[in-house]
Amino acid sequence: MKTLVIGTGGREHALARALSLDPGVTEVHAAPGNPGIAAVATLHDVDQMDGTAVADLAVRLGVDLVVVGPEAPLVAGVADAVTARGIAVFGPSGAAAQLEGSKAFAKEVMEAAGVPTARAFVCTDSDQVATALDTFGPPYVVKDDGLAAGKGVVVTLDRQEAADHAAGCGRVVIEDYLDGPEVSLFAITDGTTVYPLQPAQDFKRIGDGDEGPNTGGMGAYTPLPWAPTDLVAEVLATVLQPTVDEMAARGTPFAGLLYAGLALTSRGTRVVEFNARFGDPETQPLMALLDSPLSPLLMGAATGTLADVAFPRWKTGAAVAVVMASSGYPETSSSGDVITGLEAAEAHETVHVIQAGTALRGDDLVTAGGRVLAVIATGSSVADAREAAYVGVADVSFDGAQHRADIAAGI
Ligand code: AMP
Repeated sequence: MKTLVIGTGGREHALARALSLDPGVTEVHAAPGNPGIAAVATLHDVDQMDGTAVADLAVRLGVDLVVVGPEAPLVAGVADAVTARGIAVFGPSGAAAQLEGSKAFAKEVMEAAGVPTARAFVCTDSDQVATALDTFGPPYVVKDDGLAAGKGVVVTLDRQEAADHAAGCGRVVIEDYLDGPEVSLFAITDGTTVYPLQPAQDFKRIGDGDEGPNTGGMGAYTPLPWAPTDLVAEVLATVLQPTVDEMAARGTPFAGLLYAGLALTSRGTRVVEFNARFGDPETQPLMALLDSPLSPLLMGAATGTLADVAFPRWKTGAAVAVVMASSGYPETSSSGDVITGLEAAEAHETVHVIQAGTALRGDDLVTAGGRVLAVIATGSSVADAREAAYVGVADVSFDGAQHRADIAAGI
């Protein structure tokens, strides 16, 4: 099978790497990719937001499967453009990607499907905002309706801050605060059959102890030894399958990766959000532990034949990813700082490095974004994997590097 991965981040590096290790895959291409992806795939300089250009590339390369990593191209209809040329694509249509592209749409689907989530109001003016804030009370949860690259949600005790965020957004969703630990549960689906992956957890805040602003994610691990044993079965029955069935009933089947962000509240499991693609960084430890070849799962989802593919198997043990970010992140990011120590980190048997915001300057690998790379390690337990990941982190350096010291601590 020849494959083409669309995107530039750590998620795409992890997916491309998993495909490169899959004996059924003969070629891995990526567009536009990054220097890490270049080690496992052939890169092509094509705009990931341009559906026609992506489809042209797929035709020219003769690939069997296109895998679209990020949400923005999906919402923009890049998967539709590839489908229109008769090539299998892993990733939902633009219409189905609205599950992530509009939080109001996601709420409506959840309500219709009976999926447990926070009570919410969709507001379009300041009077509605005021009423919603007063109805729910603090902590206030205010979400920009549209895609905002992880920056659209404010959770605050400060009513003024909540109202100000709403005023800056246009259409907003204001909802009940959900307490309890968060879990990321991904499912591969062809629009009918749903195969959940292992639960994972990510760390969204920049600082240790979950202090400071939200980021794209500073680390992740899988599995979750503390999670209820029936969590996956419960979420499949109450969230994933009903949502997939509802989307099919609407004539916009969702095929691809359905990401359920869950809160395990004192009153039961609730959906915090849906995403329409693999999560970053959770994908990094998940791919490290996946024991099944990746390509049959993605191809099965892309072609409506997932039920014919074996259910995913997992290696025993655990995997932990620690993200290293550039100076200034998440408010700004620094670029051009020389990165050293990747070979030393990867010399440890259980460690590998996944690149995100990196670039080549001559022979030097340099920073080129907020989240620069992630050090991933496997181990017999979360504690074991965590220890190995931090040994790898200590080998890597660049000016201003920041990482959290408490990823997967105490698990
Ligand atoms: P989202 O983009 O919807 O995932 O929101 C980003 C983060 O905001 C989530 O991972 C949660 O940590 C937090 N969040 C979102 N919705 C709620 C909620 N209803 N209650 C508490 N925290 C929330």
